[in-house]
Amino acid sequence: MVVEREIVGFGPSGRNGGWVSPKIAGSWGVYAARGGSDAVLRAERTTYQTVDEIGSVVDREGIDCGFAKAGMLMVATSSPQASRLHAELDSARRHGIGEDDLRLLQRGDVDELVHLRDCQVATFSPNAARIDPARLARGLADACDRVGVAIYEGTEAIDIAPRRVRCREGTVTANHVIRATESYTTQFPGEALRYLPLYSLMIATEPLPPDVWTEIGWRDGLVIGDRHHLFFYAQRTADGRIAIGGRGAPYRLRQPIQEAAERDAAVRARLEATILRQFPAAAGAAITHHWGGPLAVPRDWCMAITYDPGTGLGWAGGYSGHGVVAASISGRTLADLVLGRKTDLVTLPWVGHRTRRWEPEPLRYLASKAIVRVLGSADRYEDRSNRPARRCRLLAPVLPPS
Ligand SMILES: Cc1cc2nc3c(=O)[nH]c(=O)nc-3n(C[C@H](O)[C@H](O)[C@H](O)COP(=O)(O)OP(=O)(O)OC[C@H]3O[C@@H](n4cnc5c(N)ncnc54)[C@H](O)[C@@H]3O)c2cc1C
Repeated sequence: MVVEREIVGFGPSGRNGGWVSPKIAGSWGVYAARGGSDAVLRAERTTYQTVDEIGSVVDREGIDCGFAKAGMLMVATSSPQASRLHAELDSARRHGIGEDDLRLLQRGDVDELVHLRDCQVATFSPNAARIDPARLARGLADACDRVGVAIYEGTEAIDIAPRRVRCREGTVTANHVIRATESYTTQFPGEALRYLPLYSLMIATEPLPPDVWTEIGWRDGLVIGDRHHLFFYAQRTADGRIAIGGRGAPYRLRQPIQEAAERDAAVRARLEATILRQFPAAAGAAITHHWGGPLAVPRDWCMAITYDPGTGLGWAGGYSGHGVVAASISGRTLADLVLGRKTDLVTLPWVGHRTRRWEPEPLRYLASKAIVRVLGSADRYEDRSNRPARRCRLLAPVLPPS
């Protein structure tokens, strides 16, 4: 049985950027310290396999969510961004990730995938796909319904305890209780500081005509991002729009998760400017949608999956913006843990990972403001000067460890 406070897909699962991304949710360094470099490589491979796993579920269940796998392109538009891409590539090689899974592309090669106006160099991974997130979430709910899962929408879990979930409508009793509330976890008593609710915001254009798509030359199913500190992530939607997102809006101190934080004029202006800069052929397109949602960022930016067979209580989360793949991994891992199956999933480094809580307010709020402010100003400096902004080092204590 699933109890859902709103409707299925109300959370970021139904409104994300649709990147079925091979990027690991967390930091290689932290996971390596727990499980060694073998475990990190296994984790990385599991994310790649999960992209295909999602594709095969979509196929098998007939979910019409525009799943298309054409890879992920990360673009550098300045020398500092290019340095960051090279550093990521070096680190990937050190962790055993070869050319087949991540490679450097020069500008001419990029042109075969998409005609970007601003690109010095890029990396490409074939292990990524694009989906329409709301259609995926609703399609998965229908698939669950077909195998007899009862889903109660509009039903809030008020208190979660071993073997029971208390709701206003009544109490559910169960041998196993799993909490999968991601950023909303912070609304439960005693959980406020488990994550930093970091808003990510998106816009979408109206559907673009075929001649504009020809000019942009964007291979269908390819997802594209850049290496600004406040990077963009974009997809070409199945119905022919550009949907593009980015971070940059701090949460509100008194009520960290609220609808008012889901739209922000400055982030919208930055994303519109990115469309103009990178895809000038789309310049006249109307922006028809603007929305956002809260990511759950743990103190060390690393996800965790936890299950206690003694109490039957489990939870997973802290995906920091990579939840499409990570939540699939978590669901299957929790199933194995609940059923006591000794699979490869249950020994991955995020199983049983513990993260300390964020500092109490107003410190966490100030950290979120600093992240947005300093990274934004670093981007402007780097775009202007083409030199790396050293001010980012100030944020090292609150950014993902390397
Ligand atoms: C704008 C944006 C873009 C993103 N882009 C990407 C992307 O391209 N690729 C990617 O991998 N990730 C992306 N993410 C992150 C990703 O969407 C999330 O990590 C993922 O969806 C989390 O899934 P979830 O099911 O764990 O949680 P959620 O989708 O947050 O679902 C939690 C559910 O719990 C319900 N709930 C909360 N409290 C209660 C309660 N007390 N009782 C009952 N129900 C409750 C909520 O209503 C919600 O439906 C993005 C996020 C945002 C906001």
